[in-house]
Amino acid sequence: MPRFDKLDAAGRSALMATIRKKNSKPEVVVRKLVHAMGYRFRLHRNDLPGTPDLVLPRHRKVIFVHGCFWHRHKCAAGRKTPGKNLSYWTPKLERNRQRDQKNVAALKSVGWTALTIWECELRQPRLVESAVKRFLQV
Ligand SMILES: [Zn+2]
Repeated sequence: MPRFDKLDAAGRSALMATIRKKNSKPEVVVRKLVHAMGYRFRLHRNDLPGTPDLVLPRHRKVIFVHGCFWHRHKCAAGRKTPGKNLSYWTPKLERNRQRDQKNVAALKSVGWTALTIWECELRQPRLVESAVKRFLQV
């Protein structure tokens, strides 16, 4: 196996570990926030497209908490290019973004509405709180 394949494999597993990592800090912040607002939810329902981080069955609504870099947010962190192996990472990250869009569309097609909260938005918890409020009250 050529050497770069090994590096790619290592990079791939590092990426997947990050994506799969549950209870990441931003997610915990959102969970606490939504809980404090009096809403009850379930976590990581893997029978729903994209395994949403928070699921509110009564509202038929889900909340994703996304890291800006891995999910290609339009903010500075999300536009940052990976330092090495550009030809590997760029399409990889782009696929993450496209998969996110597909998941939201798939949820919508079965009657669920999704809200995405970005890691960078958590710097202003009050804004996140009002976004959640608007989202759940509709
Ligand atoms: Zn961001």
